[in-house]
Amino acid sequence: MEAFPEGTYHGPIPEGCTLCALGAKMVLFVTGACLGTCYYCPLSEKRKGVWATWANERKVSSAEEAVDEARLMDALGTGITGGDPLLVLDDTITYARALKDAFDHHHIHLYTPGTLVDSMAMQYIEQVIDEIRFHPPGYDVERIELALRHDISVGAEVPAIPGLKDDLISFACRLDDIGAHFLNLNELEYSETNASGLRARGFSFSTDSNAVEGSEELAIDIVGATADLDIPVHYCSSRFKDSIQFRERLKRRAKNVRKKYEDIDDDGLLVRGEIEAHTVKRRDEVLSAISELFERDDDMVEARGTAVRTSWAAVEELREILNIPGVQFSIVKEYPTYDRQVVEKEIL
Ligand code: SF4
Repeated sequence: MEAFPEGTYHGPIPEGCTLCALGAKMVLFVTGACLGTCYYCPLSEKRKGVWATWANERKVSSAEEAVDEARLMDALGTGITGGDPLLVLDDTITYARALKDAFDHHHIHLYTPGTLVDSMAMQYIEQVIDEIRFHPPGYDVERIELALRHDISVGAEVPAIPGLKDDLISFACRLDDIGAHFLNLNELEYSETNASGLRARGFSFSTDSNAVEGSEELAIDIVGATADLDIPVHYCSSRFKDSIQFRERLKRRAKNVRKKYEDIDDDGLLVRGEIEAHTVKRRDEVLSAISELFERDDDMVEARGTAVRTSWAAVEELREILNIPGVQFSIVKEYPTYDRQVVEKEIL
């Protein structure tokens, strides 16, 4: 899938998006708290309204942990999001400052509904944030105008909500009038928390992605309808976020965290073999058999409880030659994320 397909944008793409397309942006979710009441808010149960911070999938409680996560994925930048990061402005600035200090060039963009933006907040923000993206209630541009007086790239990022074509075009025109630097349109997505609200308003859902039907068509329509404006307009699809941005981010992290016995597949997942022995005695028998196979290369094998982890190829081979009753052989695929969520387990 092409990163920025023809017809989905006009004008230059914001720098934050260019790095995001490479999977090179860490997602720093600083707080789940927000004063907004958007009926389409897609935040998960786990994060919505929660005063906690995640760097990618890792819950963090210090700037050092966030910097560590950025290093593990070779991040070239960070997107700070929430909730509203301005509700925890001190923390937001502390995290951003630490990331700027830790890396030579680290582009940081920040999402906010903008209701807490004022001159004082902008003075802090412009020191450490490169790009601010507003998602203003009622498409109000007043705070965006205020932010434009500061030394920072200023744009808006809003979902393309079917039925709101005129409102969105008028928003794009007002942004253009005040000299905003870009408008991003997202595909409206459904989630566990917003699905019933969206359904109640008559929206229907795609079966092969998280997208709300009609959102993409509307976004592309608006990109075309605003082509004569000076403001760059860019549409980002739900498919793109999953198939490129997320996958590329996984690959970057997988490269740095994989064990010697793990392979990385085309989707950025880690693939390994596992032998569940169910008892420590049997596990040790398995371990000694594998050590012989790998000429005692300790990095190719690891004991975890009563299980043994090694390469998937070794597990396929051992299944044929290992004659220990009661052991189970499998090939496991998991995310290279901090929580190492298992995606697939194939019992051989
Ligand atoms: S502004 Fe964003 S985080 Fe806040 S309620 Fe709306 S969609 Fe959710």
